[in-house]
Amino acid sequence: MLGSRDDRISTTTNTQRMKTFVMQRCWRFCKAVSQPSFMPRAQGWTWCSSMQGQQRRSVWETRKMQQAHEVLEKEDPYSYYRGKSEEFQNLNSNERAMRSVYVGVPTAAFLGFCFYIYDQEQKQKQLNRAKLLEEGDEQVVTNWSATHSVTTRRFFQPQDLGELEELVKKAHKNKTRLHVIGAGLSPNGIGLDGDGMINMSLMDKVLAVDKEKKQITVQAGARVSQVLEALKPYGLTLQNLASISEQQIGGFMQVSAHGTGASLPPVDEQ
Ligand SMILES: Cc1cc2nc3c(=O)[nH]c(=O)nc-3n(C[C@H](O)[C@H](O)[C@H](O)COP(=O)(O)OP(=O)(O)OC[C@H]3O[C@@H](n4cnc5c(N)ncnc54)[C@H](O)[C@@H]3O)c2cc1C
Repeated sequence: MLGSRDDRISTTTNTQRMKTFVMQRCWRFCKAVSQPSFMPRAQGWTWCSSMQGQQRRSVWETRKMQQAHEVLEKEDPYSYYRGKSEEFQNLNSNERAMRSVYVGVPTAAFLGFCFYIYDQEQKQKQLNRAKLLEEGDEQVVTNWSATHSVTTRRFFQPQDLGELEELVKKAHKNKTRLHVIGAGLSPNGIGLDGDGMINMSLMDKVLAVDKEKKQITVQAGARVSQVLEALKPYGLTLQNLASISEQQIGGFMQVSAHGTGASLPPVDEQ
C-alpha cells in the first residue's frame, strides 16, 4: 500500500519542488507589488515599500492622495487668485505700496461715493416724511432727571381723540415713528425719541368711576395724583403706588411701576 521506495523518493522530490515553486512565486509577487509602477493600480490595504524604500505607506492612501492632487490641479477655482497673491508677494515694498494705492484708492472712492448717495437718499426720505407731518418749532425735550434729551420738531400734544387719530393715521401713512411719552419721569429717558413724540398731557380727563366694580376709566394722560383724587370720594384708592404720584397713567402702567410689599402686584396687574 505504501508503494515502492522509488515511488516514495519520487513523492518527496515532488513536494520539495512544489514548495520551491510556491516560494518563488510568492517572492516574485512581493517584488512586483513593491515596484512604483504597480502602486497606482494596487487596491486594498496592502502594505509595500514606497518609491525610495525609506518610508512605508498604504497603497490605498497613496492612490487617494494622487487622485486628490489631480483633481486640485484640474479644477482649482482659486488658482487665478493664488497666482495673483504669489505675484504680489514677489514684489518689493515700493511696488507693493504702489499696487495698494492703485487698487485701494479707487475702491475706497467708489465705496465712499456709494455711501454718500445712500446717506443723501436716507436724509431726503426723512425730510419728505417730516414735511408731511405738521412740524412745530425745534425744541429740546428732556427727562425729569435731565440725564437724557432729544431735539425734535415733531412733538405733538393732541387735545382729543380726533386729533390723536389724525396724527397716528398720518404717521402710519408716511411710515414715520411717533413715540408716546408720558411725564418723562423714567430715569433712562425711555420715552424720548428724536423722530417724533406724542405727549398725552392734554388728554387727562377722568371719564368714569364704577364703585361696584372698583373700576376707574381715565384718559392716558391723567396723572396718578388725579386718579387718587377722583377715587377718594368713593372711599377707594390704588392697591399699589410708587413713591411719587406725578406719572401719567399710560407711563405708570407701561413701566409696570410698583411700591413696597412683595405680595402686592405691580400697577398693571392690580
Ligand atoms: C423721583 C422718582 C421716584 C420714582 N419712584 C418709583 C417707585 O417707587 N416705583 C416705581 O416703580 N417707579 C418709580 N419711579 C419711576 C417712575 O414711576 C416711572 O418712570 C414712571 O411711572 C413713568 O411714567 P411717565 O409718565 O413719566 O412715563 P415716561 O417716563 O414718559 O415713559 C415711560 C414709558 O411709558 C411709555 N408711555 C408713556 N405714556 C404712554 C401711553 N399713554 N401709552 C403707551 N405708552 C406710554 C413711554 O413710551 C415709555 O416707554 C420713580 C421715578 C422718579 C423720577
